[in-house]
Amino acid sequence: MRVDVVSIFGEYLAPLSLSLIGKARTQGLLEVRVHDLREHTHDRHRTVDDTPYGGGAGLLMKPEPWGEALDAVLADPPESAGERGPVLLVPSPVGEVFTQVAAVELAAEPWLVFACGRYEGIDARVVEHYRARGVRVREVSLGDYVLNGGEVAVLVVVEAVARLLPGVVGNAASLAEESHASEHDGLLEHPAYTKPATWRGLDVPAVLSSGDHGAVARWRREQALRRTARRRPDLLARLDPARCGAADLAVLAEEGFVPGAHGFLPAAPAVAD
Ligand code: SAM
Repeated sequence: MRVDVVSIFGEYLAPLSLSLIGKARTQGLLEVRVHDLREHTHDRHRTVDDTPYGGGAGLLMKPEPWGEALDAVLADPPESAGERGPVLLVPSPVGEVFTQVAAVELAAEPWLVFACGRYEGIDARVVEHYRARGVRVREVSLGDYVLNGGEVAVLVVVEAVARLLPGVVGNAASLAEESHASEHDGLLEHPAYTKPATWRGLDVPAVLSSGDHGAVARWRREQALRRTARRRPDLLARLDPARCGAADLAVLAEEGFVPGAHGFLPAAPAVAD
C-alpha cells in the first residue's frame, strides 16, 4: 500500500517510522510519502491561509496550494493503483466517524492520500473539486472533539489500516479476536489475563485454566456480550440477532436487551400500575 500525506507539519508524521508500522515500511509492505504543502505556494511568506468569506474568527487554508499539491500527488500514482486511483482522506470533525469497518475497507485499497487541514480547516471547494473529478473522497473524523490539525488523524488511520495488511501483525488470527472485529460480531473484547494466576489477591477466573476449550469460548463470549451491553450499548444495535444462539440471547436478556429487526434494543421498561 502507498500512503501520501500532504501537510504543513511533515515532522508530525515521524512516528510512522516506529514499531510495527516502521517495520512494515522497511519490509516494503507500506510506502509512506510526506509532502510539504508550502512547496506549492508562490509568495515570499509561503502563505497557505487567509481570512474566511463572511467573517468570523480564525483563518482558513487557501484552495490554490491544495489544488497544486494534490494534483502533483495524483499525477504520480503507484503502479498498483490501476484505474480506480486513490481514496483521498480529509480528516475533519465534520466527517464520518472513523471505525474498524472503515479501516477494513481502506486496508483493501492500494493507495491512500491524506490532506491535513490546520487553522479552521480547508476551503470547502477543495473537497468539492476532487469529488467532481471522480476522486473517491472521504472526510473522516476521529470523534466528537476538535484537534488542531489532521496529522494526528493520519497517525491513527494509518496505524489502524496498516496493521490489517497481510504480514504487518505477526499473528493474523489475533486481529480477528479483537474488539470491533467483524469476525467477533463487532463486540468489545472479553477481559484478558496473563501470569501469575494470583496478583495482589486477585485471581484469574478459574475457567481460563480449566483446559476446557468450549467452556473458555463460552465464558469469553458471555463476557464480551456483557461488557458491550454495559459499556457500549450502541454497538448492540448492529449485532445481528441471527448470529446469536440461545445462550447469547439469554445473556443479553439479563443485561436488558432484546432482538429487534436489525440489532438489539433495550427492553421496554416495565410499566407500573
Ligand atoms: N473549523 C473546523 C470545525 O469547526 O469543524 C475545525 C478545524 S480544526 C481546528 C483544524 C483541523 O484539525 C481540521 O481541518 C482537521 O484536519 C483536524 N481535525 C480537528 N478535529 C478533528 C477530528 N475530530 N477528526 C479528524 N480531524 C480533525
